[in-house]
Amino acid sequence: MDGTQKSSLFSTYGHPTLSFDHGKGSYLFTIEGTRYLDFAAGVAVNALGHAHPKLVEALTEQAGKLWHVSNLFAIPGQEKLAKRLCDASFAQKVFFNNSGAEAMETSIKTARRFHAHNGHPERNRLITFTGAFHGRTLATIAAGGKREHLDGFAPRMDGFDQIIADDLDLVRETITAATAGIIVEPVQGEGGVNVLPPSFLQGVRALCDEYNIMLILDEVQTGMGRTGKLFAYQWAGIEPDIMALAKGIGGGFPLAACLATDKAARGMIQGSHGSTFGGNPLAMAVGNAVLDVMLEDGFVEDVADKGLYALQKLAALKDGNNDLIEDIRGKGLLIGIEFKDPPGPIIKCLAEEHVLSVPAAKNTLRLLPPLNTTRAEIDEAIEALEAALIKYRKQRNS
Ligand SMILES: *Cc1c(COP(=O)(O)O)cnc(C)c1O
Repeated sequence: MDGTQKSSLFSTYGHPTLSFDHGKGSYLFTIEGTRYLDFAAGVAVNALGHAHPKLVEALTEQAGKLWHVSNLFAIPGQEKLAKRLCDASFAQKVFFNNSGAEAMETSIKTARRFHAHNGHPERNRLITFTGAFHGRTLATIAAGGKREHLDGFAPRMDGFDQIIADDLDLVRETITAATAGIIVEPVQGEGGVNVLPPSFLQGVRALCDEYNIMLILDEVQTGMGRTGKLFAYQWAGIEPDIMALAKGIGGGFPLAACLATDKAARGMIQGSHGSTFGGNPLAMAVGNAVLDVMLEDGFVEDVADKGLYALQKLAALKDGNNDLIEDIRGKGLLIGIEFKDPPGPIIKCLAEEHVLSVPAAKNTLRLLPPLNTTRAEIDEAIEALEAALIKYRKQRNS
């Protein structure tokens, strides 16, 4: 649109001007054919880049057969994908959703229902941590606790007790007879790529065992290979009771899942929960194809190696730009560059160098490449960032 017309869309996203016609691998192309390196990847969603031949084939083949039947009927792709996710994780049970916030809602409901089913409906509160992001539904904004997300949407849903992360004594003090579980985002993505220490995750696990409460991991962003393991909890050598997945799991098709142990899913009996679209045949076809690629030998190890490669190169970049860069952090290909100034203008300069990135809290720019990116593409992104910083410095000083 030309800007003189009034948009018919809610103003929630501002009015982005950059728009793309098609994509291939790690690149996006405008209608004029201008090429951009996509290290935004639809906010960590396009885990296998754009137009991956195996995903295109799976989706188009299914599209010619059957799109939707609802969960009144058995969907074979659901059993298949659920079994494969369980075999690759801690879980024995899966519920399919369409978005991260929904998978978190399912996770919260599962934790509460576990205690209600055990005769303790009063155990219904969840402990959450500042800096985490869990989605934009009424329950998940209450869980996330960020003021900007809650503002104007009162009443805030009750049932969440938020504390600062990485303080195990405080977690223990916060657990009461009404606590159902603890929700942790192992690497806080939107919050600025804050990598929670493995010792903290291990301590939270131990407290959950001690008090027989549910450990819920929000791996919507960290899961499905993003951190260089299939799931981020594997870095800490622990297992959750319940876990939410979304973003990369559908490679760009809306798909999410709540995974749980048999024990944790005990209360989710017939009729207790449902979704019209969740687990539809199109999503299942793509989800199974994504997993085919991610479970290939060496796939996640390669993500870890490329992540280390990028972090090393970025550390060198920081050395030459200490006036602008505060910190480099991340795990696998979930990478944060914290600047001394708000990152908006730097993200813009980087886009002018034809590399796409994503903002996060704490003045952080996120690089979220497709997981099948190459070292050459990582080099290209970092060279562009170097150029963007030169440009930004000039702008700022003029
Ligand atoms: C993106 C995200 C969500 C919300 O996912 P939606 O699909 O936008 O609902 C929840 N938790 C985390 C950690 C996320 O990164």
